[in-house]
Amino acid sequence: MIDIFAKNIQQLEVLFTQVGIERFRAKQVFHWLYERKVFDFHQMNNIGKQTQTKLAENFTILMNDIGIIQTLKSKDRNTYKSLLNFADNNTCETVLMCHDYGNSVCVSSQIGCAMGCSFCASGLNGFIRNLSSAEMLAQVMHFATKLQDEQKRISHVVIMGSGEPLLNLKEVLQFIKLLHDPNAFNISYRNITLSTSGIVPAIKTLQAESLPINLAISLHATTDEKRSSIMPINKTYPLTELLSATKEYANVSGRQVTYEYILINGFNDTLEDAARLIELLSAHTAVVNLIPFNDVKEHSHIQTPIKRAQSFKDYLQKHGTPATIRKEMGADINAACGQLRNKHIDTE
Ligand code: SAH
Ligand code: SF4
Repeated sequence: MIDIFAKNIQQLEVLFTQVGIERFRAKQVFHWLYERKVFDFHQMNNIGKQTQTKLAENFTILMNDIGIIQTLKSKDRNTYKSLLNFADNNTCETVLMCHDYGNSVCVSSQIGCAMGCSFCASGLNGFIRNLSSAEMLAQVMHFATKLQDEQKRISHVVIMGSGEPLLNLKEVLQFIKLLHDPNAFNISYRNITLSTSGIVPAIKTLQAESLPINLAISLHATTDEKRSSIMPINKTYPLTELLSATKEYANVSGRQVTYEYILINGFNDTLEDAARLIELLSAHTAVVNLIPFNDVKEHSHIQTPIKRAQSFKDYLQKHGTPATIRKEMGADINAACGQLRNKHIDTE
């Protein structure tokens, strides 16, 4: 059986004709899946009974195999976090954030993570496997179905959940293209953000795709020594190499790159750090997104006090580097990536 979730219309046409189903059925099925959010061939009622049966005999739809282990809602009711279960019993986290400007889903791209960053909960149990494009799309569909009941839609997607998306680029690209497909989720590329720890060759591959999505780089430190101590990937792709790749990405794509910078108390939050950050990004079209560190019980880092975070931001802005402090959403429901899944593994 072949799973047809997250296949585009052209791929569906090929699959259908291979089993003797008319080509034009591809468009109909696609409409049922993404517009109507119906995942049972027998309910697709503009398709004849015989074809429905043929579809069901030959194909599956991943949405039917997704279990929801738990959904947590933040006290302010703006953040929802779900732990999804796949057919192989692996679990993955996905988060919905409802902002004034729209509804955004934070998608995981892998189960676990191999990168071993010292502040992050995602890699604590190592890397398990890549998620397929269908499994990524299922995370968005999970919340889209929920919002549909309230006549709302998903307008933004950030690939910032567990995992390193640039180490799963082929599946991530298929996923992004389906998000954008006007007959699927119809999300503007400008509302899609991919965050990476800085896999330089894959940044170049992404650049060659010429998709006008937002690129976010997890920077978090301003010297190679400091960055390597919290992000082992920096030993392979040090700052000069990374920043030269992102500069080229910004120039070629015409898009401003976002630099994420977790403020960790006493580690990277002094005004000297801020000055170095300005220097590093001086020749870039960049915006810095300062992130309050989210406590991970297994790690020893602590959050920079808000006052110091504010001075750090003011310093950047005063010197011409645009900066924002990320609003903490869903802190009461372990919204930092990887934390809910780890809790689940701990209690198993
Ligand atoms: N692997 C990719 C995308 C997933 S991580 C990357 O590293 O960019 C998404 C973002 O969450 C990154 O900026 C990451 O550094 C941040 N993050 C991880 N652990 C965190 C924590 N404990 N508190 C705050 N942000 C965290
Ligand atoms: Fe992986 Fe990103 Fe977490 Fe680093 S910050 S361990 S790259 S998910």
